[in-house]
Amino acid sequence: MTSTQTESTEKTTPWQGANAMRVRIVGAGVAGLTCAHAFAARGAEVTVIERKSGSGQGCSWYAGGMLAPWCERESAEPIIAELGHESLAYWRASVPDVPNEGSLVLAPPRDLPDLKRFSRRTEAFEWVDGARIGALEPDLEGRFDQGLFFPTEAHLEPRKALAALTRLLVEEYQVAFRFAAEGVGNQCSEVDDQCSEANEADLVVDCRGLAARDTLADLRGVKGEMLVLYSTEISLKRPVRLLHPRIPVYIVPRGDGHFMIGATSIENDERGRVTGRSMLELLGAAYALHPAFGEAEIVEIGADVRPAFPDNLPRLRKRGNTLYINGLYRHGFLAAPALARRAAEVAFDGAYFPEVMDEDHRQW
Ligand SMILES: Cc1cc2nc3c(=O)[nH]c(=O)nc-3n(C[C@H](O)[C@H](O)[C@H](O)COP(=O)(O)OP(=O)(O)OC[C@H]3O[C@@H](n4cnc5c(N)ncnc54)[C@H](O)[C@@H]3O)c2cc1C
Repeated sequence: MTSTQTESTEKTTPWQGANAMRVRIVGAGVAGLTCAHAFAARGAEVTVIERKSGSGQGCSWYAGGMLAPWCERESAEPIIAELGHESLAYWRASVPDVPNEGSLVLAPPRDLPDLKRFSRRTEAFEWVDGARIGALEPDLEGRFDQGLFFPTEAHLEPRKALAALTRLLVEEYQVAFRFAAEGVGNQCSEVDDQCSEANEADLVVDCRGLAARDTLADLRGVKGEMLVLYSTEISLKRPVRLLHPRIPVYIVPRGDGHFMIGATSIENDERGRVTGRSMLELLGAAYALHPAFGEAEIVEIGADVRPAFPDNLPRLRKRGNTLYINGLYRHGFLAAPALARRAAEVAFDGAYFPEVMDEDHRQW
């Protein structure tokens, strides 16, 4: 069965309300905002509750914004690439500034076996030699002999993309946002009396990221650290991944001389603290890509915790009138739009998507 098919025998009850479905979404990260879009586009009355002062300020704030289904295929299950292709089309259609420049994967000559291993685990790339690398990224000319170029991939600036999505939701879909409001379990707690309407929802969509661990016991945190550098000495058009035996690093150009360098992947849920060792590794890799990064200004360092299930795959779970969307791990931007579309089909049409839904869906 493909992801776009549903199994009629496994359906839940489709929406049968006479009026628009009232949906309360808890959490305004990439999962919550893309869900708000998917539900509002189907005619739901959507309210988004977010405990921070604006949208996209949780784990999503720190993401690199690589939309790289083929590169991720190197270490992720095929379903991530499948969700990624759908999401790539969504971002291209929904927000401005999604450069379609592809991705470049490079390795120093001594790590050529890593490049070969990477190539065996994925597809939709071309081998590039030093001259072609220089044509794609003139500032890298003469620095690498071989690489892989993935021409159909893209990237975005997560903070700008989520701000643009929030504007779209408010202006075109009349989605209501309640910031500095806490969605506690199934209720929005009163903050300046702004929750009373939101508490009368037909469906709650829980997109709280790692905070949902209070009800999703198998959720764990995977810490990711990043930094942003500023340099006018180098320019890149596309994300570059540098393979490295200990810590594979990527550099995403953000325009105006800014570059996001990411990301560590550490099995703990210690939010916020950035270690010297991690910074040494990230900076060392950036310097290995181009010495100009050694002179760059450090604009920001940051860390957050990716929400992940034991198999690192995302899930939709429905319990009563709450639909949980979680476990986006390192694929929030790559997977959320495709999950959001499925979530709306689960709620409106009673659809069932075995590739992202647990086997115990019959108990709902
Ligand atoms: C360094 C780093 C780099 C990354 N790079 C990439 C990348 O290049 N591409 C990619 O696709 N993914 C990347 N990721 C992963 C991606 O950031 C996550 O998968 C994604 O952000 C998870 O989104 P979310 O909406 O589930 O969670 P979050 O973004 O954490 O959103 C959850 C929201 O819920 C809110 N909330 C929590 N509890 C409550 C409550 N009780 N009431 C109201 N609101 C509440 C929080 O404040 C938060 O805003 C990266 C992650 C890190 C850390």
